[in-house]
Amino acid sequence: MTDADALADRVQAGEIPIHDLESHTDPRTAADARREYLRRETGADLDAVGTFSFDPADAEPNVENMLGAAQIPMGLAGPIPVHGSAAEGEYHLPLATTEGALVASVNRGCSALDAAGGATVRVTKHGMTRAPVFRVYDVAEGQAVTEWVRDNQERLAAAAEATTDHGELQWARPYVVGDSVFVRFSYDTKDAMGMNMATIATAAAAELLEDETPAELVSLSGNLCTDKKPAAINAVEGRGRSVTADVRIPRDVVADRFDTTPEAIAEVNTRKNLVGSAKAGSLGFNAHASNVVAAMFLATGQDPAQVVEGANAITTVEAREAELYASVSFASLELGTVGGGTGLPTQADALELLGLDGGGDPPGSNADALAEIIAAAALAGELSLLAALASRHLASAHEDLGR
Ligand code: NAP
Repeated sequence: MTDADALADRVQAGEIPIHDLESHTDPRTAADARREYLRRETGADLDAVGTFSFDPADAEPNVENMLGAAQIPMGLAGPIPVHGSAAEGEYHLPLATTEGALVASVNRGCSALDAAGGATVRVTKHGMTRAPVFRVYDVAEGQAVTEWVRDNQERLAAAAEATTDHGELQWARPYVVGDSVFVRFSYDTKDAMGMNMATIATAAAAELLEDETPAELVSLSGNLCTDKKPAAINAVEGRGRSVTADVRIPRDVVADRFDTTPEAIAEVNTRKNLVGSAKAGSLGFNAHASNVVAAMFLATGQDPAQVVEGANAITTVEAREAELYASVSFASLELGTVGGGTGLPTQADALELLGLDGGGDPPGSNADALAEIIAAAALAGELSLLAALASRHLASAHEDLGR
C-alpha cells in the first residue's frame, strides 16, 4: 500500500479532512491521496489530471486542495515585429487555447503586420487600483473625510508604501454615495500585476484613515476598484496598463495577405465593432480581443479572471489613400511578469520565450513590454478576423481548422 493509499483510507474514515492532507505529508503525496480518494468515491480515474511537469510544492501559493493540473494546448503565432517603448523587436507568441483556428488567424495577422513593418505600441497609462468602502454618519461627515483624504495624500502614501519595496501610491481619490465613502487608491506596481500588493498596501492606508477620521472601514474592496467585473470606470479611467497599438498596411499587402480591400475591412469594423457593439450596449468595441488576451494570459501565468476587464478594447480602422490604418486600444490590461502564476514552470517558459521572465530593468519595463506585445498580437487578431468577415472566409476557415 502506498502512502497516498493509506492517506486516502484515513480521509475515507473521516480521520483527516481532505483539505488538511498537506499537514500530514508532502504536497505531491497529498495530491496523489486526494485523487485516490476521489477515484474511490466517484470512479473517475483522474490519470490525466495527475500527469503534470511541475512540483506541487511550487504551486502552494497558487492553489489549495491541489488535485493535479489542467493542461491547455499552446500554439505559436508570429513572429510579430513590435515597436514599443518597452518592447522592441520580433516576438514569438505563445497562445494557450482550445479554440481551433485562433492561432492560425492570429498568425495570418502577424504575417500582415510583419509585411507592413510591424506595430507601433505605447503604454499610455498605468496604475493598479483598490477601493475600500467606509461607513460615515452622514453627508457632512463624508465631505470631511473626502477633504482629509485630499489633504493627506503623502501620509496615505507613507502608510501604504511601508508594506512594499516596489509599490508606489500614485493617488487616492474619494467618492461619496450617501453615508458611504469610497477611496480609490492607485499604485505603480512595477512588474507585478499588483492586486495582492495593492490590497496589502491599502489595508495599511485604510487603518490610518480610520485612526484619523470618523470613517469606519466596511470592506477593503468596495467594487469601485473594479476587479474582475465589467465596469465603465476601468474603461474610462484605466486599470493595470492602458495600451494602444496601431499599424499602417499598404494596399498591396492587404490584397495579398487578406484577399480583400481596406474599404471592406473598414466597413466591417464600423458596422460590426462600432455600430453593432453600441447597439448591444457593449463595454469594449472590438471583434475578439478577449481571444488573444485570454490565450496570452493563460500561457504566461496571468490571473485568467482579469480577462473580464483585460479584453475591454476599442478597434478602429480607416481606409486611407495608400494604406489601411488600424488600431486597438486597451483600457485595463492587468498583468505582470513577477508574482501570481508567472513563476510556474510552463508559464515562466512562455515568458522566457518573450524575453520577459522576472523583473525588468528598470522595474516595470517587463510588464510594460508584455502589455505592448499583447496589444500588438490583439491587433493582428482583430485584422485577421475583420478580413475573414470582409472576404466572407470566416465560416470556411472554422470548417477547415476548428472541427
Ligand atoms: P504577488 O505574487 O502577491 O507579489 C509579487 C511581489 O513580487 C511584489 O509584492 C513585490 O514585493 C515582489 N517583486 C519582486 N520584483 C518585483 C518587480 N520587479 N516589480 C514588482 N514587484 C516585484 O503578486 P501581485 O502582483 O501583488 O498579486 C498577484 C496575485 O494576486 C495573483 O495570484 C492574483 O491571482 C492575486 N489576486 C489577488 C487579489 C486580492 O484581492 N488580494 C485579487 C485579484 C487577484 P514587494 O511588494 O515586497 O516589493
